[in-house]
Amino acid sequence: MRVMSVPSDDPVESLGEPDQVRSGRLIVTIDGPAGTGKSSVAQRVASRLGLTVLDTGAMYRAAALLTLRLGIDPTDATGIAGALGTHCIEMDFETEPPTVLLDRDHLGEEIRGSKVESIVSVVAAHPEVRDRLVAVQRAVASSHPRLVTEGRDQGSVVFPDADARFFMTASSEVRARRRVDQLRAKGQNLDVESVLRGIEARDRIDTGRADGPLVRPEGAIEIDTDHLPLVEVVDRIVAAIRDAGGDS
Ligand code: C5P
Repeated sequence: MRVMSVPSDDPVESLGEPDQVRSGRLIVTIDGPAGTGKSSVAQRVASRLGLTVLDTGAMYRAAALLTLRLGIDPTDATGIAGALGTHCIEMDFETEPPTVLLDRDHLGEEIRGSKVESIVSVVAAHPEVRDRLVAVQRAVASSHPRLVTEGRDQGSVVFPDADARFFMTASSEVRARRRVDQLRAKGQNLDVESVLRGIEARDRIDTGRADGPLVRPEGAIEIDTDHLPLVEVVDRIVAAIRDAGGDS
């Protein structure tokens, strides 16, 4: 089966000069479940079009890490909301790609670890947590109005007036395989079955929550990435942004 991967000869920085797109506000949303390649695609679309990229999953992961560090029960919405009131989650746009900061500290790979992964969807389901992080995301769009933002609710809740909205999908088996390959590249060996179970558990919580559930935003262009190489996904999205009036 041909699956989307990030070829080593396709570094984001090798894409050359940005394509010409219209100046002024241009908000592009990419939503979809874990392992569909949203981050890789968003970074390349941003590079092609000269936009800023926002990884909203990293912000929820930072909230989950804070929950772990403070020893708060992940189901304790009030406790986590209180912690978010006294600690600061923000983005550092000086790095490429931008990275999340917790109280001004870079978090690195810790937010991608299994401890964070096992609770992040529980933490992200609390409306109190979402309200706070959605406010940060909208503030980012005010200061970076040429933005590609990726997550679960970007086109449905956070930026329903976005200029172009996309929904990326892939079968859970392909998503699990991609995740295993990514982890292997980092020296971690996990079996596909356990990664698949983790992805499906997160999907269930993300789609089942009342606030900002994972949905295909109305009017979003759906891209099934099971058999599409990364570069083709990026090409389709860039072309659709032009069709939607994003070109100059
Ligand atoms: O995209 P990523 O896998 O890093 O997201 C981690 C988790 O953060 C998701 O499983 C989801 O629970 C949560 N999330 C969210 N809303 C977003 C982005 C991520 O609830 N906009």
